[in-house]
Amino acid sequence: MIKAVRGTRDLLPPDTALWNFVETAARDIFRLYNFREIRTPIFEQTQLFARSVGEETDIVSKEMFTWEDSSRAASEKTQSLTLRPEATAGIVRAYIEHDLNRTGLLQRLYMIGPMFRRERPQKGRYRQFFQIDAEVIGPPTAGSESPSVDAELLEMLATFLERIGITGWTLELNSVGCANDRPRYNEALRAALAKDLDKMCADCQRRAVTNPLRVLDCKVPEDQPIIEKLPRMLDYLDESCRQHFQAVQDLLAAVGVPYVINSRMVRGLDYYTRTAFEFTHGALGAQNAILGGGRYDGLSEWLGGPKAPGIGFAIGEDRLVLALGRTAEALSHPPDAYLAPLGTGMDREAARLARELRRQGVVVELGDESFRLKKSLETASKIGARYAVIIGENEVKADAFALKNLATGEQVTVPRAELARRIQPTLLK
Ligand code: AMP
Repeated sequence: MIKAVRGTRDLLPPDTALWNFVETAARDIFRLYNFREIRTPIFEQTQLFARSVGEETDIVSKEMFTWEDSSRAASEKTQSLTLRPEATAGIVRAYIEHDLNRTGLLQRLYMIGPMFRRERPQKGRYRQFFQIDAEVIGPPTAGSESPSVDAELLEMLATFLERIGITGWTLELNSVGCANDRPRYNEALRAALAKDLDKMCADCQRRAVTNPLRVLDCKVPEDQPIIEKLPRMLDYLDESCRQHFQAVQDLLAAVGVPYVINSRMVRGLDYYTRTAFEFTHGALGAQNAILGGGRYDGLSEWLGGPKAPGIGFAIGEDRLVLALGRTAEALSHPPDAYLAPLGTGMDREAARLARELRRQGVVVELGDESFRLKKSLETASKIGARYAVIIGENEVKADAFALKNLATGEQVTVPRAELARRIQPTLLK
């Protein structure tokens, strides 16, 4: 038997109702903040991710699904392509490519779709997973650097989680500084690491040289006592980053969104500057981050674009659905009516009636004339239909149909024109 690839999975009904619930809520809430949808390709040139996410990150160094694409046309060169491991890089690429800076306005964009990372699969961690991603990008003149953008985005997330009924989350907040103060911090980290480095894991030893900030991401238990004692980024922020971070916190306090400072949270990607955040949730176990994000004030320029600071987040939809703890049944809608054609020639009549009822908004599942009545009624009950409509020769002649309430067993004859209203009284007010 051919099975789904390890780390990927099928989402089946009724669970898909949970996913739709979450996505609809996201779209509704984002709309209130004037976000609009963007859709970028699921694969991009490999160098887009190498340059933005960073060569030294786990994502780029170990987890990307990359292949050499040799086009058939002799004129086209072989190129290295990668399934997107995250959304921001592609969105900023599109922002630059379509010169959205020219509008002079903030672009509030969101995207929902699959991402791909070759991680070790476990509960809450997949190789194809879904993210709900939102970004605010714009020229500085549009206010894109303002701490109020950060606070508004975080408040929007709190509102979204509240809307879908997730409580008990923690907003962890940090500032990872900017190009101005990062070198000083990196130096301080390297100096502090120097004496203990030989006791640390191989990854940390490498990162201490290439990108010391990444050491803070290390999960190796033996390294933790050393990491606990390292200098904190927050003590190295320059004055403008410090003020920015303070303003974000003041605004969060003003709108009543609680947060905790986590000075070790640097997030796994290179492009982050200033505000970095995660929302964690206790119900998730080891993979406890439901979502994460941060500012990336230099990313557009790194990618050869204009100065266009931004901030964004990615919600892990798989984990969000786990954290929901709701059962899909409560959200799924069984059909209103099952149409049971009885005897030869009745499929045609049933198809016509189904078309009429559906046009009026009734949710209908259509039976088959080869079924005996008993089988039709059993099927109607199994799918959870509220009514069965029996369509036999006599009914067609009378233009009135037997309508059976499957909960009470009560059966009445209803003229064709009244059928929809009887089945679904709320429809035609
Ligand atoms: P990141 O870009 O790594 O911060 O990811 C943002 C969010 O996506 C995380 O907080 C997770 O909720 C989710 N996520 C990341 N990687 C995976 C994965 N392999 N499987 C499922 N969800 C993931």
